[in-house]
Amino acid sequence: MPKFVYDFTEGNKDLKDLLGGKGANLAEMTNLGLPVPPGFTITTEGCRYYLEHGSLPEGLQDEVDAHLSALEGAMGKRLGQSDDPLLVSVRSGAKFSMPGMMETVLNIGLNDESVHGLAAQAGDERFAWDSYRRLIQMFGKTVLDIDGDLFEDAIEEAKERRGTKDDGDLDADDFKALVDRFKGIVRERTGRDFPTDPREQMDLATKAVFDSWNADRAILYRRQERIPVDLGTAVNVCAMVFGNLGMDSGTGVAFTRDPASGQQGIYGDYLQNAQGEDVVAGIRNTVPLTELERIDKASYDRLLQIMETLENHYLDMCDIEFTIERGKLWMLQTRVGKRTAAAAFRIACQLLDQGLIDADEAVDRVTGDQLAQLMFPRFDGSKLEGSKRLTKGMNASPGAAVGKAVFTSERAVELAAQGEDVILVRRETNPDDLSGMVAARGVLTSRGGKTSHAAVVARGMGKTCVCGAEELDVDVKARRFTAAGGEVVSEGDVISIDGSSGEVFLGEVPVEDSPVVRYFEGGLSASDGGELVQAVHRIMTHADGRARMAVRANADNTEDAARARRFGARGIGLCRTEHMFLGDRRRLVEELILAEDGAERQAALDALEPLQKRDFEGIFEAMDGLPVTIRLIDPPLHEFLPDITELSVRVALAGDDAEPQDRRLLEAVRRLHEQNPMLGLRGVRLGLAIPGLFSMQVRAIAEAAAARRSAGGDPRPEIMIPLVGAVQELEAVREEAAGILAEVAEATGVDVPALIGTMIELPRAALTAGQIAEAAEFFSFGTNDLTQTTWGFSRDDVEAAFFSRYLELGIFGVSPFETLDREGVGRLVSIAVEEGRKTRPGIKLGICGEHGGDPESVHFCHEVGLDYVSCSPFRVPVARLEAGRAAI
Ligand code: PEP
Ligand code: MG
Repeated sequence: MPKFVYDFTEGNKDLKDLLGGKGANLAEMTNLGLPVPPGFTITTEGCRYYLEHGSLPEGLQDEVDAHLSALEGAMGKRLGQSDDPLLVSVRSGAKFSMPGMMETVLNIGLNDESVHGLAAQAGDERFAWDSYRRLIQMFGKTVLDIDGDLFEDAIEEAKERRGTKDDGDLDADDFKALVDRFKGIVRERTGRDFPTDPREQMDLATKAVFDSWNADRAILYRRQERIPVDLGTAVNVCAMVFGNLGMDSGTGVAFTRDPASGQQGIYGDYLQNAQGEDVVAGIRNTVPLTELERIDKASYDRLLQIMETLENHYLDMCDIEFTIERGKLWMLQTRVGKRTAAAAFRIACQLLDQGLIDADEAVDRVTGDQLAQLMFPRFDGSKLEGSKRLTKGMNASPGAAVGKAVFTSERAVELAAQGEDVILVRRETNPDDLSGMVAARGVLTSRGGKTSHAAVVARGMGKTCVCGAEELDVDVKARRFTAAGGEVVSEGDVISIDGSSGEVFLGEVPVEDSPVVRYFEGGLSASDGGELVQAVHRIMTHADGRARMAVRANADNTEDAARARRFGARGIGLCRTEHMFLGDRRRLVEELILAEDGAERQAALDALEPLQKRDFEGIFEAMDGLPVTIRLIDPPLHEFLPDITELSVRVALAGDDAEPQDRRLLEAVRRLHEQNPMLGLRGVRLGLAIPGLFSMQVRAIAEAAAARRSAGGDPRPEIMIPLVGAVQELEAVREEAAGILAEVAEATGVDVPALIGTMIELPRAALTAGQIAEAAEFFSFGTNDLTQTTWGFSRDDVEAAFFSRYLELGIFGVSPFETLDREGVGRLVSIAVEEGRKTRPGIKLGICGEHGGDPESVHFCHEVGLDYVSCSPFRVPVARLEAGRAAI
């Protein structure tokens, strides 16, 4: 039988799968000899069993009994003992941190008798009754599912009766009365009394924590963070220590480095005479941690010592939750801390310079997603002066966000769904605001520190956040806030928030490129760019050195090609030639489609060819010396014609006076109309059906390459045939193309070798890759179409139609159009790689679907042995970094 319960002395930090992050790290700290209150962890395996069967696994309760007895023995008191009760907390803790998403119940073990025992032991009646009402409130809300506002309203009423706004002014009698009131609420709402048996409290709380794994907000958070749905949470049962036993007690949160910048120092918040959740919830304003030195020097010194121990042990920035109970420091949690993208790069290089980690490890400590965040634009400093600054709060999560102010999550979701950019403005956020935070461009709160819920969650999402902007008077009911200067911002008014400086501006402030982008662009040298740019430079240099795969770009004009090269692209993996037929040239394509005989068709092709040739010359020049894969025209021709409905109406309205050209067009549109154009006349089928079309393109490529070579350049064309499903299709086109290449070489006297290859974007192509490789010198996986055809998902329709439901149901954790589906599409890719190489060992293999710029998919491409990935120019640095990380 598996072991379901581990004492803190039995676990360690590597058991996160089983004990969750919190449990594993509590065990690790216990083993390091740090002051952790004793306790035990019920495993995620127990949770998974419970969620699946609706009951606890056999043996779990016996193990809990044994561990609870041991805990009682160690503490010298029994759970809920009437004269001196042991109280415990029951906390969630999954493998991946999900701040505030799941449940916690404190002060378990209190009842009508033990509350007196606690009062006597603590010598503080008020504290005991306050603790008791907190238990009923938390238990009521999380275990019994009672609306938390009912309890909050009762507290507000009590304060009103006292004529105060501060909980601190309530005395023991007030709390006694509140306990009665809360018990009444429980009875009213659940039809039963608040359970007074301590063990029943503990068991119900444990199950509630297990159940909270499937709370709506937890599901949404997991989807956002791509955390698997089936991990479950562990439960930590821990002896209570109290931060609310007077002014010599308190609770706080600390970071070993600044989570926003990475600077080493004392960062965190402290709240005197308060219990744990008060800080994270941002309910009361905290003092900076440095103040603790004045308040309690001994605890402060001990805390600094512990922070150093933890950094040196975890070899990373840690965050910590602690409590001081009457001058004694207790560690309640630590974990490798969430940080901003900039801090991640800085910290990795700092640790490298300190000799704590090596260069491989430094590259592994950052991610492509973080790099992408650093490439976001920020506010243009020169334009800030003319902008009206409303206030300055705390710079909780960097970035520049502009949008309409909204005051509720529902409204944020509603407006965002209509395509509006919104900023969610709240007094403070709580886990119920998650959907609004996801929908908003940025988050602004008037209360709470850098460790408040808003700050922690926004940082985790990479969302811009300014918190604790205390000068703002936020009135959620009236949907407006008032700044210190009297300016009123109502729902719908545009504001700009700067998560790097904490500033809030009225109206729209223009944004500018980030310095990291300027560095990639070559406009800013690594040495002039400051610590962050230098860190990015060092990490990228090492990643490039380690990467096995090259990174190319998807680009179809000179400008994009040049930018991609500056961003580090080693060639073009996909030049979509149909993009060159848009704008004014659409008319020429129209003529090609309307051509009634060979002569007319040839005339249209002749008009297009020089234009194509010029485009290719520019791209070859921008990518001189590097491969350029040019994909022959792919989409169905009707995309170049007017919309069928509009044109029909125009012709019908004109009646007999309709233009002859319009009539011809309408006829062509009808002729080419397809029920299912994505599966119709496109790709290689088009090339085979319209004589001369592909030849014109191949000729333009060959002539452009010859011209570049004659001008002293080094063009490296690769001709790619789209949507091939059978080798016979490829052979037909290949023969024609080879003929034209030879003709042009003969005519120009310049022989530029060009590879001829194909896209693998149909399941049949993947399954017959061994045959196709006979005729293809390279494969490029078109995973957009391969995903479409493998799943049978129309790539233009499904995401809006039903993907949110699929994500909700956990059918997949992320859209297969975003991250490559390893089991299905990935399997086809693996087969094609294997079969292709069997036929042609040196075959060049790449990917050019959108997945080429997605970090997780880049790792797959590395594993399956591709030679390169190709992605949009802006994603090139991200793919370079991930290609390096994949090789480490
Ligand atoms: C693909 O299908 O993955 C691809 C790159 O081609 P396109 O997106 O142009 O169809
Ligand atoms: Mg395609």
